[in-house]
Amino acid sequence: MNPVIEKINAAVKSAAEKCAAAAAAADIEAVRIEFLGRNGLFPALSREMGSIPAEQRRETGAAFNAGRQQIQQLIDEGVARFAKGGDESAIDTSLPGRRRPVGRKHPVMEIADECVAIFSRMGFVPVSGPEMEDIYHNFDALNTPADHPSRDEQDTFYFPDGRILRSQTSPVQIRVMETHEPPVRIVAPGRVFRRDTPDATHGMNFHQIEGLYIDRDVSMADLKSVLLTFAREMYGEKINIRLRPHFFPFTEPSVEYDFSCVVCGGKGCNVCKNSGYIEIAGAGMVDPAVLKNVGYDPEKWSGFAFGLGIERLAMLRYRIPDLRYLYENDVRFLEQF
Ligand SMILES: [Zn+2]
Repeated sequence: MNPVIEKINAAVKSAAEKCAAAAAAADIEAVRIEFLGRNGLFPALSREMGSIPAEQRRETGAAFNAGRQQIQQLIDEGVARFAKGGDESAIDTSLPGRRRPVGRKHPVMEIADECVAIFSRMGFVPVSGPEMEDIYHNFDALNTPADHPSRDEQDTFYFPDGRILRSQTSPVQIRVMETHEPPVRIVAPGRVFRRDTPDATHGMNFHQIEGLYIDRDVSMADLKSVLLTFAREMYGEKINIRLRPHFFPFTEPSVEYDFSCVVCGGKGCNVCKNSGYIEIAGAGMVDPAVLKNVGYDPEKWSGFAFGLGIERLAMLRYRIPDLRYLYENDVRFLEQF
């Protein structure tokens, strides 16, 4: 290979690298000037051809032409790349833009936010706590007996170190009372976990909102009035509530409370199983033992607590017959809300 062919090959390589690295049209023009311009490399090589031995001229001439063509092509491509409006063939700026689908709040979050808004108007402050809890806050401090079935590994998710995924939002109440002097008026919305087999009304994780009100002389009548106000803000002025005696370790006395049926208004239908009422959740006056656990004097302070299942509220609001629809992530379903 003679020195001219070597120079041609090196020039093609160098031109390709420079074109690839070019950041603007001026860089491409500089390549053209360097290699093909009047005082550039190729005209100079052309003059050198005279010194090539006759038997090599044919081969060298072919390499010269091929090299010049390759560099010209690199330059043409570079010019096209940076040409003003050079992409016009690909982008028609007069076409309307593509609409991106707009996201929206999940119905469960929608209802959770609505609950928080309603309780905020009644003076409850939203707070949150950890989803990974210890036994003390989830059970012991809430007065849950040592042999209570909810502590069972069949019902609660345990970590190897003995901590758990909280089975209720109530530990947040304990954490707030441990760190705040009364009076306390909070709501704690959040995700909870239970080892249930998912079906139309149960899931392994779902959402609760829990309320706690501690002050002087708080009574069951205050609890009932808060629940009734909530029921009417959520489902309309015609809703009534009903309290039924129940038992929870955390409260004494305890009640389960029902809303009059949001579908039939109390006349009886298949949603309320013809009872006119729909079970909502549990509530009650905070047990003095729980107040003592957090260092409050039960002689001075009293209060109530209540819980709500957010999925249940959403299912009633939107007439969703099966809890699992909420978590299948089917956009056709979610788009309805
Ligand atoms: Zn009904």
